[in-house]
Amino acid sequence: MNKNVLDTDLSGKVAVVTGAGGVLCSAFAKTLARAGAKVALLDLNEEAAQSFADEITAEGGVAKAYKCNVLDKAVCYEVADAVEKDFGKCDILVNGAGGNNPRATTDKEYFEEGDIDADTKSFFDLDASGVEFVFNLNFLGTLIPTQAFARQMVGREGCNIINISSMNAYTPLTKIPAYSGAKAAISNFTQWLAVHFSKVGIRCNAIAPGFFSTKQNAALLWNADGTPTARTGKILAATPMGRFGESEELDGALLFLLNNKAASFITGVVIPIDGGFSAYSGV
Ligand code: NAD
Repeated sequence: MNKNVLDTDLSGKVAVVTGAGGVLCSAFAKTLARAGAKVALLDLNEEAAQSFADEITAEGGVAKAYKCNVLDKAVCYEVADAVEKDFGKCDILVNGAGGNNPRATTDKEYFEEGDIDADTKSFFDLDASGVEFVFNLNFLGTLIPTQAFARQMVGREGCNIINISSMNAYTPLTKIPAYSGAKAAISNFTQWLAVHFSKVGIRCNAIAPGFFSTKQNAALLWNADGTPTARTGKILAATPMGRFGESEELDGALLFLLNNKAASFITGVVIPIDGGFSAYSGV
């Protein structure tokens, strides 16, 4: 089946998606399966990955879930061997596992005199282990699976790595310095990998999603009565198109970057999909 707006045909390809038990990456896994790929859904949360693999299978696609901690090199190598045995060598790796942690988040947007002694988590209270957790999850959690799966791509034409960056990589969002820094590192690493693998048939690009209203951020964005929170007001005011994105609006960039005809000379780019957020100075 080759059902997508760009006619990207991934029949016969093996696609590996990390973080596939989550909101955006389960949608990526479905999109890849609908384009014909056999999809390996990797996640710490095996149950979630399994439920999405089941949905793909029920739709007539080919998918299998694997429990995998993207920070454990030995486990990633074991899973890579298992995927190769089940489906064949990996052609497409989507490095989607990532996220923030409250221990690396300040309570307030701006530091004010008195905050050091006040009962608020200021910059000075940030926990080094929380910052380390966020850096490791986003950066090493992209580097290690790339080591595990790019080995299977070397020397085979038409292989692709897609990383997931963020708006934070362009300009940091308030409160989340570690996540912002880690996603900036992902954009930078995407360029590094693109150069490093340029001679062996692997293109490496990234998608930087803007703001998507999903289940996981619903409480931040919407009040219990369905009205928008103050943060939603700020986000929409900073998004020239004046709305949140829909998960399906990431599909076009994913399928374009993976299309070895349309994007054959594209490597090392980060595509923002953000309704203009990253382009807008606010004035
Ligand atoms: P999500 O929390 O729904 O999914 C993340 C998944 O990663 C979860 O299923 C979780 O179990 C898994 N995971 C966490 N640690 C792991 C580990 N060590 N090993 C394996 N799996 C692990 O998040 P999402 O919103 O779907 O985000 C997916 C990616 O997109 C992340 O990299 C995120 O930073 C990025 N992103 C999201 C948004 C957004 O608006 N949601 C915007 C920009 C970027």
